[in-house]
Amino acid sequence: MIIVLKPNPAPGVVEHVLERIHALGLTPHLSQGVSRTIIGVIGDEDKLQVQPLQAIAGVEKVVPILRPFKLASREFHPEPSVVDIKGIKIGGGHLAVIAGPCAIEGEELLFEVARRVKRAGANILRGGAFKPRTSPYSFQGMGKEGLQLLRAAGDELGMPVVTEVMDPRQVEVVERYADILQIGARNMQNFDLLKECGRTRHPVLLKRGLSATVKDLLMSAEYVMSEGNWQVILCERGIRTFEDSTRNTLDLSMVPNVQGQSHLPIIVDPSHATGRPELIPAMAKAAIAAGADGVHVEVHGCPEKALSDGPQALVPDQFDRLMDELRPLARLLGRTIDVCNAQTKEPAACAPAPC
Ligand code: PEP
Ligand code: MN
Repeated sequence: MIIVLKPNPAPGVVEHVLERIHALGLTPHLSQGVSRTIIGVIGDEDKLQVQPLQAIAGVEKVVPILRPFKLASREFHPEPSVVDIKGIKIGGGHLAVIAGPCAIEGEELLFEVARRVKRAGANILRGGAFKPRTSPYSFQGMGKEGLQLLRAAGDELGMPVVTEVMDPRQVEVVERYADILQIGARNMQNFDLLKECGRTRHPVLLKRGLSATVKDLLMSAEYVMSEGNWQVILCERGIRTFEDSTRNTLDLSMVPNVQGQSHLPIIVDPSHATGRPELIPAMAKAAIAAGADGVHVEVHGCPEKALSDGPQALVPDQFDRLMDELRPLARLLGRTIDVCNAQTKEPAACAPAPC
């Protein structure tokens, strides 16, 4: 249910409506836009006693939210949400450039890539410590030791870090080391994990499931938000189709599609979407042109030796070139790529990757 107030409500109207909602045992969510004040309410709609609320002077209308997702919906929060993680904003015209290796494999490789992507202009460092692999015999990630390395690299470079959490039991350790919790495509409908991440106050990067609809994705975001954590960043990372010349099929139309329905920021991962480095720059640029709030790109110093997703990794030089193309495009479109300033040490001059 949303309560739309008349423009420029008289003093005390907002407080009065909030009071009435609290008195009914419900929780209001106040959204003050430039021209309108909207108060969203989730819960037993019978309690809302639509008529009396509508009778309050200053209330224009009380309308139900018909979509199955409520907190994530545009109706509930008409302005775009902006996630701010240590001064790096995502959404509302601010682009996230998340880059790093698929998996954390060791200190030297991680720091090398981290320095290079930072220098190129990435503003969030990624790296997997718990890896969702198709085969149980493949490298499963370095676990806690990997988290510690990622934290150390992020701290050295002043970059927020994001890493995947695969199981509700891992949330505690992952939130200790990471700034953003990633929920991977394979876990998009792991509802216990969604709820556990919703109980933290860490932003959640929620990747679209391999065969999830836009509605499924937004319902999963709703799970996180319904636990009180509104800092959700959606991610399109390609879906399964009959096309087999790319790893997945990038569904770019879902960017404006989601933005029409939800206030949450949405970024695009052209690495997992295409699985092919030569396609990544074009798809990254297309994502920004389509209105995405950022990109998520895998970079490795030596893809042929990578323990996970080597074939799709950009090498640092390719990432440099991608950033050289993204920056003017972002500027042209009036978007900002926030820069990590809180750097403790100047990134060392980079030697060629140890390949
Ligand atoms: C990843 O980001 O490394 C990853 C496993 O992504 P996805 O869940 O989209 O496959
Ligand atoms: Mn990967």
